[in-house]
Amino acid sequence: MSPVPSLRPDLVTLAGYHSPQVEVAVRLNTNESPFPPPESWREDIGAALERVEFNRYPDRQVTELRARLAESYGVDAGELFCANGSDEILQCLLLAYGGPGRRAVVFEPSYKLHSQIARVTGTEVVVVERAPDFTIDADVAAAVLKEAQPSIVFLCSPNNPTGRAEPDELVRRVVEAAPGLVIVDEAYGQFSPRSALHLRDDPGLDTTGLVVVRTFSKTWAMAAARLGYLIADPEVVAGCEAVVLPYHLSAPTQLEGILALKYRAEMEARVAVVAEERGRVAAALAALPVDTWPSDANFILFRPQGRGAKEVWQSLLDRGVLIRDCSGWDRLDGCLRVTIGTPKENDLFLRALEESLATGADRPG
Ligand code: PMP
Repeated sequence: MSPVPSLRPDLVTLAGYHSPQVEVAVRLNTNESPFPPPESWREDIGAALERVEFNRYPDRQVTELRARLAESYGVDAGELFCANGSDEILQCLLLAYGGPGRRAVVFEPSYKLHSQIARVTGTEVVVVERAPDFTIDADVAAAVLKEAQPSIVFLCSPNNPTGRAEPDELVRRVVEAAPGLVIVDEAYGQFSPRSALHLRDDPGLDTTGLVVVRTFSKTWAMAAARLGYLIADPEVVAGCEAVVLPYHLSAPTQLEGILALKYRAEMEARVAVVAEERGRVAAALAALPVDTWPSDANFILFRPQGRGAKEVWQSLLDRGVLIRDCSGWDRLDGCLRVTIGTPKENDLFLRALEESLATGADRPG
């Protein structure tokens, strides 16, 4: 009998990043789109799948999807790399540019997978604390980058789970100060008024190391498809191609992306509804005994005042509403995060929250 070897010692402390997938009426815990993609997109997929040669490997270069995406951004196809969700994009970047003896800088609290994938790839993680309002101090950032000389700096804009998009000036300062890649994770980019993409057109800024990562999971309502991409210098694309597995992106996934791009107007309409609902939910939260933070994304971070976050989370679940409990995460003591849903789901959430906060308010937090 051959025993299972012990897990790599540097992995043992990694708890992973999972939200419970429970059957519940209102699911507002993983920042997905509450709306499905258009019905005609589904029909297009059905027809396209009939033509797939399933006995053959898919296009390794992802030629058509990259060309279409490139066209939509006005960039060259050589500046685009696609993978199975933006998480795989992040993993490729870390495999190619991180690793033993190299450093990645993260500004916490932020998307946990940045530091987790860094550690899994043996990259040393340098944590920089955000200010109490979760903003990044540009002077602090510049000083740390000078000292740490990281191969990779992560920005998340809008930042998950705190919600705000990074100001242009901050991204610019980080790009100027960074000795290597600056990865701007824009998983929620289309919900936000700002993107780092336009910095690439600035003749006064060297953006060779700027990498913008986006996904079809959120705004395109295609989390099940697992499709993400980056826009960067062709050298970065070549770096990712050097580490990704052969034929990594299945033929159906490539088709799903190509066909989705026909429905940009529908995507933008969904985003507009969510952005409007975000304003409505934020205004309703402002009238409740909770602290909140401004959001440029499809979720809002809040902290019940004088009430335990776990207790409120459970009470919402008892009322059929699942949100994200962030209270155990570093620097997010007492915090919960709600994804913006359909107008009806948001009403149910707000009503459940009001009830939860009203009952047992005298219990210790
Ligand atoms: N980046 C951020 C900031 C996210 O919140 C998420 C999803 N939770 C991802 C990347 C990963 O998205 P996906 O792999 O579905 O593209």
